[in-house]
Parts: sequence; C-alpha cells; structure tokens
Amino acid sequence: METKEKKRIAILGSTGSIGTQALQVIEEHSDLYEAYVLTANNRVELLAEQARRFLPEAVVIANEDKYAELRDALADLPVKVYAGADAICQIVREKPVDVVLTAMVGFAGLKPTISAVEAGKAIALANKETLVVAGDLVNRLAHKYHADIIPVDSEHSAIFQCLAGEVSPIEKIILTASGGPFRTYSMEQLATVTKAQALKHPSWSMGAKITIDSASMMNKGFEVIEAKWLFGVSPEQIQVVVHPQSVVHSAVQFADGAVKAQLGVPDMRLPIQYAFSYPLRLDSSFDRLDLCQVGSLTFEAPDLRRFRNLALAREALARGGNMPCILNAANEVVNRAFLEDRLGFLQMSDVMADTMQKAHYVAEPTYEDYLQTDAEARRIAASCLTRN
Ligand code: NAD
Ligand code: MG
Repeated sequence: METKEKKRIAILGSTGSIGTQALQVIEEHSDLYEAYVLTANNRVELLAEQARRFLPEAVVIANEDKYAELRDALADLPVKVYAGADAICQIVREKPVDVVLTAMVGFAGLKPTISAVEAGKAIALANKETLVVAGDLVNRLAHKYHADIIPVDSEHSAIFQCLAGEVSPIEKIILTASGGPFRTYSMEQLATVTKAQALKHPSWSMGAKITIDSASMMNKGFEVIEAKWLFGVSPEQIQVVVHPQSVVHSAVQFADGAVKAQLGVPDMRLPIQYAFSYPLRLDSSFDRLDLCQVGSLTFEAPDLRRFRNLALAREALARGGNMPCILNAANEVVNRAFLEDRLGFLQMSDVMADTMQKAHYVAEPTYEDYLQTDAEARRIAASCLTRN
C-alpha cells in the first residue's frame, strides 16, 4: 500500500488550551498528522513532556531564560531545541511545515504569523489578535504569498463551514455569543464582579486571557473585527446575537434569505480538526449533539450599555487604521490588570476608551507603525491604570 505523506504541523503555543487540544487531534489522527514543531512561552515541563510524546523535529521556548532547562530535559532525544521569539519566526519560515497553528496569546502572535505567511505556509488561525491588530496587512501579505488562512475560532470556523460549496456573496453574518458568565448582570452587579467569577465561563473552557475577554465581551468585539478580515464583509453585515446555549456556533445569510448555520456541542477540537483536514471531514470521537436533550435554543440582542466593549470594537473598526491595534494593546493591559486585582471590571472599558482617545492615529499603518502603536498604547493604558 502506498504510504501517504503526513501533514507537518507547527503548533505555536502547544502548552495552552488550543495547543493541547490540537495535540489530541493529532494523536487521534496520527496516520495523517505529525506535530513537527512545538513552541511555548514558559512552561518547560509540559513542553518537554509533549516533545517526549510526539518527538517533533524541533521545540522552541520563547523565554530564553528557560533554554538550558529545556535542552537538559530533552538531551536524550533527537529533538532540536531553540529559544527566543525570533527562533519561532525563523523556524516557521525555514522548516518544511505544512500548517502553522497560531495558538499563542495576544500581540505576540503577529510576527510569527507574518513570518509564516511570507513563507507561503497555510495558517490555522486561532490567534485572533493578529487579525484584530493588522488584518489589512496580514490579508495583503497572504494574498501576495498565496498563504491560506483557515479560521480556528469556533464562530469563524462555523461561518467558514457554512460557506463551503457556496459561490454567491454573503448578505449577512450572524455571529453568536454565549454572553459569558455576566450576561444577565445589572450595571451595579458588574461593578463588583471578581476575577474568580469572570474565570467561570458557562460553556467553554479556555485560557485565562480569552476567558476574561469573553466575560467582558471584548472577545466578541474582536471577533467582529476578525470576521471582517476573514470574510471580506463590511461591519454592518455582521450581526452579533447572544445565544447562551453555545450550540449554534454562527450562521451566514445569503441573498435569497437562506440562513445556514453550523451547530455542535462546544468543543474546540472540532474547529481545530477541520482547519487541519479542510476540505475533508474526518471521523472523530467527540461528543455528538443531541437536540432533544438541548431542548431549546434562545437568542437575544446584546446590550451595548452593559457590554460597552462591543461598541468600542465597532468604533475601532469604523475609525480603522491603527485604532483596532490601539484597542487590542489597551485590552491586553487592562485584562492583565483585572486578573491581578488591580482594576475593576467596568474600569477596563474606561481605560480602553481613554487610550483610544489619546494614542496617535495612523490611517495606513505599516508593520513598524503597528509595533510603535502597540508600545505607545500599552504605555498610555498603563498610565490610565494608575489614575483609576
Ligand atoms: P492559553 O493561555 O491557554 O495558551 C497560550 C499558549 O501560547 C501557551 O502555550 C503559551 O506558552 C503560549 N504563549 C503565550 N504568550 C506567548 C508569547 N509571548 N510568545 C510565545 N508563546 C506564547 O491560550 P488559549 O486559550 O489556548 O488561546 C490561544 C489563542 O487562541 C488566543 O489568541 C485566543 O484568543 C485564541 N482562541 C482560543 C480559544 C479557546 O478555546 N481557548 C477559542 C478561540 C480562540
Ligand atoms: Mg470564538
């Protein structure tokens, strides 16, 4: 029998929520996929354990202080060990990788994603911040270097799945949101919520940063921006609908009024697997959806007064240029401050709105402009924090 070439996958952020689930997918389909590169920020022990199990060609630890520890842990294995953010970029550029799964958090994802795109590698995109910050630039580069970008975010994967086989344009995207743990909270209640409450997401288990972003609906705001760049629609064509059951992962409406949705139990392994297998669907051991057990599906309009971050994201999108980059940087600062009990839940939006006012606006930013904007907005947000 002919042996098929396995797809070589680089997982950037293999020790995180998406990264570890991606490794489960690879394990379940080890005849098709190979973990070729694994990278992490700090967690040497878990990265070493993963390397022992999957025997990748190379591993990279972003934090250079941890290099020796990782090298020593893997000394008996034929796995190349590197350290530093630049090494991540170099490896995705130079190694014969078929798919780069961007599963690291935040602005740090931008440079390696651009490196992979410039090398013409297919991107399975989990790191939505990359498109929030620089969707225009990344799209232009992807076009120039013929790099496919396949969404992993569950909503965007759902939309992507709805578009399979369609040749007609999208009339409207219906982007669903669970509403998070505070969906029904009043302003008074929101004023005093704690990080422990925010970290308890009702339907998804995710990394800390995105869990806070989900509670504050910043995540959904970012997903509106992400959808614009992935699917080439205008912001007016994207409707956010709160759907607490998280069963309808999103939907697309076409010119004839038909609406197609993708449904399923909340499990990120499905969109991860689809990003690897597209256009094919593979078997899976994941739980199946039982609609009778779900019983009812409900939908409501989001409340932009209580969840102001949705409005901030729309504003950033409307102003364009580097404004979404400013918003993202400010959000990274306030998200961390909230996680460290240095800022209240509602003040997060105040600081972001302030930062959007104060940071320099650039209408057509270059990559260098994005770096500068990110640094400037972080400084401004940090100085707003001390006054809050
Ligand atoms: P996580 O915190 O669980 O994991 C993050 C991973 O990235 C870790 O492996 C960490 O070592 C690595 N990392 C963090 N900072 C880094 C840096 N500066 N340089 C290099 N590596 C770094 O996060 P997660 O929940 O898996 O989310 C990853 C990305 O996927 C985020 O952009 C998030 O928005 C997106 N996403 C996640 C989910 C989910 O279900 N978790 C769903 C949709 C989208
Ligand atoms: Mg999502």
